[in-house]
Amino acid sequence: MAGRKERRSRWKIFLFNPKIEPMAGAEASATKEEQKKVKNELQEAWDYVSKTYFPGWNRRDKWKARRRWNLAPSGLCDRRKKLILIQSLNPGAPGMHEFNLTVALLIHEICHVGAFGHERKWQRLMMEKSRIADKNKEPKLAQYLRWEVEKYKETPAVTAQMIYSRIEDCVNYDAVGIKFGDLMKSIAREYGMTVKEFRKRYKKCLAVYRKAIEWNREEERLKKEFMGVRR
Ligand SMILES: [Zn+2]
Repeated sequence: MAGRKERRSRWKIFLFNPKIEPMAGAEASATKEEQKKVKNELQEAWDYVSKTYFPGWNRRDKWKARRRWNLAPSGLCDRRKKLILIQSLNPGAPGMHEFNLTVALLIHEICHVGAFGHERKWQRLMMEKSRIADKNKEPKLAQYLRWEVEKYKETPAVTAQMIYSRIEDCVNYDAVGIKFGDLMKSIAREYGMTVKEFRKRYKKCLAVYRKAIEWNREEERLKKEFMGVRR
């Protein structure tokens, strides 16, 4: 019991609830003009990033970029659909223009095409791009890309054990009663993956989820039994 409690306090990652999508409704409130502007800006950033930072990578235009008004992470790389999704309302980074932030987010996500997660391979790619930014006289962008790498260097590499503990914690405390499908959607997004990629990488999710539920039931049953004894 103590072990489980301890784990919980270590994991205070925000649980994205698929039912309450942040930014939902923002699209409705944006005028056609505003939507068009955002779309054009993305296309402009996409063309620039492809040409300057990933030359030759998307020659056949198989990959596309889209804005999503209801995206929880700031970006997502969907390899199955060959889509890079970028959140519409960026929190904004100090000293960066919106266009520049879009450029930075696109670079971050395109680096995921060749590298799952934010581990060494992805970090190496990002550093490579930061050197290109230096050469292009974009010091703020270079700095931002390096800052992102630093940020992920500090967080421990994601292990399967971490993922399974997270599932247990959700079932036991953070999201009691959550359906398996919703939980997968939520956790996969936390780690910037699609559900399909996530399940392929972490194969024991369903078993862990079922076992956690079983544990919960058993705990309830034992509690009732104890209470019965007291009477
Ligand atoms: Zn990422």
